Amino acid sequence: MEVSLTPAARTHALTTLDQDRFDLLVVGGGITGAGIARDAALRGLRVALVEATDFAAGTSSRSSKLIHGGVRYLAQGDVALVREAASERATLRRIAPHLATSLTMVMPTHGRGTHLKLGAGLWAFEKLAGIPADERHAMWNREEALASEPTLAGEQLYGAAAFTEYLTDDARLVLENVKGAVAAGAVCVNHAEVTRIVPGAVQIRDTLGTSTHEARARLVVNAAGPWVAAVFGRAGVTSGRALQLTKGIHLVVAHARLPLRHAVVMQARDKRSVFAVPRDGVTYLGTTDTLYGEPVLTPEITAADAAYLLDAANRTFAGAPLGEDDILGAWAGLRPLLAEPGKAPSEISRRDEIMVDEPTGLVSIAGGKLTTYRRMAERVVDLVGERLGTPAGPCRTGEIALPAARVPPPPPPDLQTRRPHHGGGAPPRLIRLYGADAPAIAARATGVEAADGLSALRRAEVEHALDHEMALTLEDVLERRTRLLLFDPEQGLGGLEPMAQVAAHRLGWSPERTADEVRHCRRLAASLRSFA
Ligand code: FAD
Repeated sequence: MEVSLTPAARTHALTTLDQDRFDLLVVGGGITGAGIARDAALRGLRVALVEATDFAAGTSSRSSKLIHGGVRYLAQGDVALVREAASERATLRRIAPHLATSLTMVMPTHGRGTHLKLGAGLWAFEKLAGIPADERHAMWNREEALASEPTLAGEQLYGAAAFTEYLTDDARLVLENVKGAVAAGAVCVNHAEVTRIVPGAVQIRDTLGTSTHEARARLVVNAAGPWVAAVFGRAGVTSGRALQLTKGIHLVVAHARLPLRHAVVMQARDKRSVFAVPRDGVTYLGTTDTLYGEPVLTPEITAADAAYLLDAANRTFAGAPLGEDDILGAWAGLRPLLAEPGKAPSEISRRDEIMVDEPTGLVSIAGGKLTTYRRMAERVVDLVGERLGTPAGPCRTGEIALPAARVPPPPPPDLQTRRPHHGGGAPPRLIRLYGADAPAIAARATGVEAADGLSALRRAEVEHALDHEMALTLEDVLERRTRLLLFDPEQGLGGLEPMAQVAAHRLGWSPERTADEVRHCRRLAASLRSFA
């Protein structure tokens, strides 16, 4: 285990915040903040990252989990963004192959004109983006489309385009960046909220304990996603562009109810493109795009949100229509977009923007996508270097692999002929989530006991999250480390009590605290199954 984020490491990090003097303090441990912290630390800056809840607890655990090639930006005429997204996708594949698995996306067509236009658009996109030959699209006629994806409704089908997208795991990508930042010398803490920023110093509150801290930092970057404007308030910033938040929801159904072989683009009633993605025994549907007011961690999902996606699925697929009863779970997130008054939610640009408030020196970044996080971080750290007057050197995040992407050591010689080298025999789900750490988790499972509802393998995963990944609440484990809340057909509730006991034992929880943690997770899971 190269980087180990133990509970003791967090306690030590809180003390270090008080004692050291940092070049840069990053507010917010979503993909934007984690990417910036890793980049800056790799360039030799002394960096701290402070996250109010848990790493990725905001938007960065609630995305559609797609690393876009950028085809959608072509439709908007944004050629620069097409190129950036396509090259970032290839980079991510290099630095974290387990977090960028390729996936065929099928887009049904319903007439000769749209079919030909789509084929021409994909051809132009692939030329512009330099897509490698083995990832180029195919155009299917009706028979080919139905043979390849039999779930499609056949009546008005003309054919389909099949092109490559990449699937990631957003929260795990954030955690890998945090681990990479720590490996490069950054001090990263979760469950610690920045309460006030004054020139040269940042006040921090440990939200799991009672302590407060003050970190000295030459420069502060506000990467608080939907809370960027709230952090303006804590820093006394009066300038800065307004954000417009938009909400997007996803629904989870059993794979048996929508047994897709590929991801499929669906057209919603208002002509927006939405999609269905098969993953780990479930299929998820996403996403909506509606204006939202003040940011909250868990935005509510309405019955209308759910009906919108179910309707899109029922228009696209054959078989018994999906209804609310089929929904096993859901998640909702807020896009922190730069306001463009008068535009419809899905027309607002996803571009990022860096804002500098000269009176306070606060640098803020908002907008952007998971896909382009590394380039956003590079631009921010270039600026940080300039403002500190110590040029930060070239960005190295595109060359240095993320920690769990390292090649696992070869197995002992007697196993070499029987076992595949990659993943050391760990199940595919484990490899996709934990990369090179998967074999160690699988090996741990042979030494632990299963409990009621908690298999030895799942218990090993939970122990790994607690021992090495700074999971400090049951929700951290269930939602963001193991992803069971999202992708397990039972939302991970089957083994919740024994899971809580494992956490209680390691983190020293009282019986009352343990019961509270269980209650909170049960309530959260229930709120993601029934909608008002
Ligand atoms: P966040 O992840 O929200 O991080 C900000 C963090 O700051 C939070 O964790 C918060 O707790 C913390 N914070 C706030 N205040 C404080 C404080 N005072 N002190 C300390 N910490 C604080 N992009 C893609 O590339 N592909 C997709 O498929 C995709 N799908 C999406 C689907 C939906 C529904 C949504 C909503 C977005 C999607 N995106 C996608 C966009 C992408 O998810 C976001 O651009 C990205 O996650 C934003 O990350 P962030 O770090 O800026 O914000």
